[in-house]
Amino acid sequence: GLPPYDDSNVFARILRGEIPATKVHEDDHALAFRDINPQTPVHVLVIPKGRYVSLADFSASASEAEIAGFWRAVGKVAKDLGLEGAGYRVLTNMGEDGGQEVPHFHVHIFGGRRIGRMVP
Ligand code: 5GP
Repeated sequence: GLPPYDDSNVFARILRGEIPATKVHEDDHALAFRDINPQTPVHVLVIPKGRYVSLADFSASASEAEIAGFWRAVGKVAKDLGLEGAGYRVLTNMGEDGGQEVPHFHVHIFGGRRIGRMVP
């Protein structure tokens, strides 16, 4: 089963303002900020403000408003960063086999260069 939410995780600390982040968007339901170790010219993380460990948790437990607000923020951030024309990738890592390191649900937005076909 899923682990319980850990309030000491790094994205919870960013949400509480305890550690800095380069924010690119914030609204009632979501926060977006630059990844500290970017893998592409544009690499942004989008997180819901609620306490969800992963996609499994978020998709099962978040309200309709949280889910809608979160995904609207993902699309808006990509557009506002100028990625819509050339395209971009959205990815989430879920759990141990998915390679998830931070236990607060997040999606990565990768863009700014040609990424090509999805490979694991
Ligand atoms: P995942 O959990 O999906 O494997 O990846 C977590 C992502 O969070 C990584 O890409 C990593 O570089 C990023 N990250 C980890 N700690 C911090 C941090 O303190 N600030 C920021 N902005 N990104 C972080």
